[in-house]
Amino acid sequence: MQNDLTSSVQYIKGVGPRRASLLARLGIQTFRDALFHLPYRYEDRSSIKKIAHLKYDELNTVTGKVVKADIISPSRRPKFKIFEVLITDGSGLLKAKWFNQPYLKRIFKQGQEVVFYGMVKLNYRGAGFEIINPEYEIIDEIVEENSSDIDHIHTGRIVPVYRLTEGLSQRQMRSIMYSAVSTVIPFISDPVPSEIIKKYNLPDLRESLYNVHFPESALYLDDLNRGVSPYHQRLSFDELLTFQLGLAAIKKGEIAEKGISFSPDGRLAGRLLSNLPFKLTGAQERVLKDILKDMQSPSPMNRLIQGDVGSGKTIVALLSMLTAVECGYQSALMAPTEILAEQHYINIHGLLEDLGLRIHLLTGSKRNKELESIASGDADIIIGTHALIQEGVTFKNLGLIVIDEQHRFGVMQRAVLRKKGTNPDTLIMTATPIPRTLALTLYGDLDYSVIDELPPNRNPITTILFYEKQKNHIYELIEDETKKGGQVYVVYPIIEESDKTNLKAAVTGMKAFQQRFPYLKVGLIHGRIKPLEREEIMKEFKNGSIHILVSTTVIEVGVDVPNATLMVIIHAERFGLAQLHQLRGRVGRGSNQSHCVLLTYGAADDAKRRLAVMVETTDGFRIADEDLNIRGPGEFFGTRQSGMPDLRVANLLRDVKILETARKEAFALIEKEPTLANYPHLRKSIEDFWGKRIELFKTA
Ligand code: ADP
Ligand code: MG
Repeated sequence: MQNDLTSSVQYIKGVGPRRASLLARLGIQTFRDALFHLPYRYEDRSSIKKIAHLKYDELNTVTGKVVKADIISPSRRPKFKIFEVLITDGSGLLKAKWFNQPYLKRIFKQGQEVVFYGMVKLNYRGAGFEIINPEYEIIDEIVEENSSDIDHIHTGRIVPVYRLTEGLSQRQMRSIMYSAVSTVIPFISDPVPSEIIKKYNLPDLRESLYNVHFPESALYLDDLNRGVSPYHQRLSFDELLTFQLGLAAIKKGEIAEKGISFSPDGRLAGRLLSNLPFKLTGAQERVLKDILKDMQSPSPMNRLIQGDVGSGKTIVALLSMLTAVECGYQSALMAPTEILAEQHYINIHGLLEDLGLRIHLLTGSKRNKELESIASGDADIIIGTHALIQEGVTFKNLGLIVIDEQHRFGVMQRAVLRKKGTNPDTLIMTATPIPRTLALTLYGDLDYSVIDELPPNRNPITTILFYEKQKNHIYELIEDETKKGGQVYVVYPIIEESDKTNLKAAVTGMKAFQQRFPYLKVGLIHGRIKPLEREEIMKEFKNGSIHILVSTTVIEVGVDVPNATLMVIIHAERFGLAQLHQLRGRVGRGSNQSHCVLLTYGAADDAKRRLAVMVETTDGFRIADEDLNIRGPGEFFGTRQSGMPDLRVANLLRDVKILETARKEAFALIEKEPTLANYPHLRKSIEDFWGKRIELFKTA
């Protein structure tokens, strides 16, 4: 018998290869995975009611033997099927009913022991009890298990309810979890330093692990269900501590490295500034000052710049890049999409025209010549996509890295790019507006500046919601807008129509617009168009020769054409809030009034809420809040977005207080003991939690 937390679930009693593969579908492969597969809710079965003692209109748990199970169709409505199960516990009879779920017939059999949980109602005849649509569990399904545990874990107590997958019943899952929990817990050692445990009076780790699965008392039922029982809090604390220790270690490691200390003379940056048709906003000036200070200091800069769409992050980045170039270093800008990289390239080229710099673009599609220039130092400013971090790309002397729209990149990619230089300074730009405390915690290894001011003379974009029958108004709006000299984006969810969906598509849309507006030039851009052609189209849109640009979400981030004043999003219900906000952010970038039209072909509740939020506000912070509310923090902060490890127990919104405490303790601990030499268990749990991500930083 193995008891290591990393052992396969196959070692759990009652788990063979078949169940192991079912568990794997739930992401449970090891004992640790099982231990942290927490119940998503708990049921109080500590007080099972006798049928004779049931009361109407109360939630109750009853248990009994199936007397009869049948599908009934009322004679007046023959298509309508009611599935009825009659049970008895010796004290009386109770009828359970489900409507239009005839498959239940295959599940319930006469003679089975079952548990029902639900609202008890008076039978419509006014005599006898009914329970409608109850949650159910078949108790004597697993013949092979006959130990005394059974009754004790499935009824007569607070019972955990787990997320399942097809082929695994609640009861089987519960038995598996019981056996996992009771096998492993005795071997668990507490990694958290005892001073911290004492200071916050944390409950014992083993006790907590046991109780989140099989609570010993009904005392905390509500808290258990909300995931805030003392036991949950203990586990959340541990998880967040490990998380923050990782960040603290990364930060400590980075500060300790020797970076470049730039001594700029402002020669190039100054020239760009004097060429600009506008003055920097106060917020831009302030952030730029933060950056320059970092660049002059000898430790490597790792600064996150947050600013809503349109707040003018690019110019700040560009001034920083020029600062590095002034000092004889190369600067690289990495963008998440080819279109955005191309945009930056065109844009920056234009802005730096008379500075005599060598600017290069490196995307997946263009290579050899660029690679040589980058390696030989012939390139001063290199703009690119992920292509920049591929093997074979070497820089002569990379001094500054700018990562645009960082939510599209993981921590890993950032680190790989950094390794292309010797501790270059790094600037990370994001338009994902999240509350400051959360930003600090999520990106805890970074310093942080916000551009919290939009350039002057921006009129807030007005947003209108259209339903299908109003869609012809869109033509009028486009006509008006283009008459005034404005340009238009029309965004579709897909490139071409297909049998699989009945979504409207960009290719068809483009034809329709061209037909309707023969005197205007309509362009089409999407991921399947060749890069060179795409660059050409963007150039034409930018210089105004294309009036209407039909596209997919390839233009979602970063694209900047100030003369575009109308954004039309077709099938707006298909897009997420963050995405809608980004898309809308493509307009409203100049001083002319801009509009956004959301065309919906019918929306589910969540989508309706998203659209309503979009109509109501243009404030990125509010939108992010709503997004968090709608999607839940799990998805919002998913690994893909933040590049951070997944949290299994803690919830960044619910557990903000715990997060702050954990952060404080973690940073203090690393300050005192940078390598955690005296806390081997803690080190181990950080390594387990962070996996490869932290390895990378150790060697970075
Ligand atoms: P984002 O923060 O979304 O990346 P950009 O950097 O693309 O925003 O800037 C949006 C637009 O605002 C650009 O057209 C840019 O030239 C313009 N801009 C940036 N800073 C200022 C400013 N201080 N005053 C006026 N316009 C500005
Ligand atoms: Mg940008």
